[in-house]
Amino acid sequence: MVELLAATLSGQEPTLSEVIIDEFKKSLRGELLSPDDLDYDEARSLWNGNVDKRPALIAICDGVADVINCVNFARNNNVLISVRGGGHSFPSTSVANDGLVIDLSNMDGIRVDPVRRTARAEGGVKWGAFDHATQAFGLATTGGTNTDTGIAGLTLGGGHGWLGGKHALALDNLISVDIVTADGQLRIASEDENPDLFWAVRGGGGNFGVVTSFEYRLQPVTTLLAGMIIYPIEKAPEVIRFYRDFTLNTPDEFTSWCVMMADPDGNRVCVIVPCYNGPIAEGEAYIKPLRELGTPIADLVGPMNYEDLQALTDAALVPGRQYYEKSHFMKEISDEAIDLMVEHFAESTAALPVILLQQVGNAVLRVANDATAYSHRDGVYNCLIIPVWDDPGETEIHRKWCRDLWEALEPYGTGGIYVNNIGREEDDSEALVRSSYGSNYLRLAEIKKQFDGDNLFRHNQNIRPAP
Ligand SMILES: Cc1cc2nc3c(=O)[nH]c(=O)nc-3n(C[C@H](O)[C@H](O)[C@H](O)COP(=O)(O)OP(=O)(O)OC[C@H]3O[C@@H](n4cnc5c(N)ncnc54)[C@H](O)[C@@H]3O)c2cc1C
Repeated sequence: MVELLAATLSGQEPTLSEVIIDEFKKSLRGELLSPDDLDYDEARSLWNGNVDKRPALIAICDGVADVINCVNFARNNNVLISVRGGGHSFPSTSVANDGLVIDLSNMDGIRVDPVRRTARAEGGVKWGAFDHATQAFGLATTGGTNTDTGIAGLTLGGGHGWLGGKHALALDNLISVDIVTADGQLRIASEDENPDLFWAVRGGGGNFGVVTSFEYRLQPVTTLLAGMIIYPIEKAPEVIRFYRDFTLNTPDEFTSWCVMMADPDGNRVCVIVPCYNGPIAEGEAYIKPLRELGTPIADLVGPMNYEDLQALTDAALVPGRQYYEKSHFMKEISDEAIDLMVEHFAESTAALPVILLQQVGNAVLRVANDATAYSHRDGVYNCLIIPVWDDPGETEIHRKWCRDLWEALEPYGTGGIYVNNIGREEDDSEALVRSSYGSNYLRLAEIKKQFDGDNLFRHNQNIRPAP
């Protein structure tokens, strides 16, 4: 007798009989895995090796029909569900203990229309595959800066990327989504159909249903001027101050990072990563001052194709290492905040400590705060604090380091936190999610009530349905 202990919305723990699970299994074209299956451990493993979750069932969906059957099964049997796109989030909300994982990894089809300059991609696609498909036509949309990240979670929460200066967020480039809502219906959401739902999914994360496909607007993008200018860590106070002043007023072509980190040999460095999405000669002239802050250890900036740029962090942020992160949006970077970052960075004992200032890009800031559910149009930089280590026994040390700096930097942030950077058990309080959405929260809660009044989709950065 196979038994499933399912956490329920009401807090009860019913046992589902073998018959019900067998019926569910037969309703799927894809596989249904349980802990006895050989592939179970691989299917439940996450990009963040610091998270270890044991779901009761994993449905490897093979199309929209499977997703509908999963949603109906979960709703009818009060089973907790989680939705897995790329499985790449830091807090790892895509896998729930004792729940059903709706795994979209096999739903990875992409169709590019080079004439209309659009692409439709299924919910399990990752950015590496998406960029490869669109770059065949010299096209791209703003996307995540690591090829292994899923398009789904990233787009539904926002989507910062190298094209942000000219083309805003990933979600600003959405034309429509196909979404299976809590009632098991497949809906199209766009400016013309279900416009409220379309507003909500652009920033509201996985709260409104399972998005089975995304339709994006594409832009011509080929070779950019990009790469790393690496300075000794001792120069960090000067380099970050110069970077702060340089980025006070930049053209749309320019999007950038400034990061304290360790190189592959473990040497700590301060790196500026400029990206100029315009004529190369123009970019060379524009970024020249960034290369002249003394003598860099290395200057690796040059013309780069977009797919290579998108893979820039792949070697450092490999799946399976131990990760933790916290973040603040910042409107400006004060001298005090810089000093705090520099001092705190020196104290980290992680193999790879990362403190990253990510300039989100001019076009992101030009969109009205209530145009989509994404509520951080005043956040000029996303400041990420990320310790990476390998020994699980060191977890508490590195978490504490991260949380201490995050708390110290709180007065220097906008008060908003990127929803894709929260969602762990310990920080998923209603207050944190509510403050992350600011003035958009009440409208989100009303739309949540309309499409998911029983909060079936709650293993996420949860928006509670309005009463
Ligand atoms: C190494 C690394 C680099 C990153 N770089 C960037 C970056 O450059 N820019 C940026 O903006 N963010 C970045 N992020 C954060 C990223 O946006 C989030 O982690 C995002 O959730 C990843 O998407 P995923 O599909 O892989 O997530 P998953 O872990 O699969 O899912 C996370 C959550 O998203 C929701 N979800 C996923 N798929 C669906 C779906 N099809 N339908 C409905 N809900 C769904 C669910 O609530 C799920 O719990 C990065 C993260 C990492 C780890």
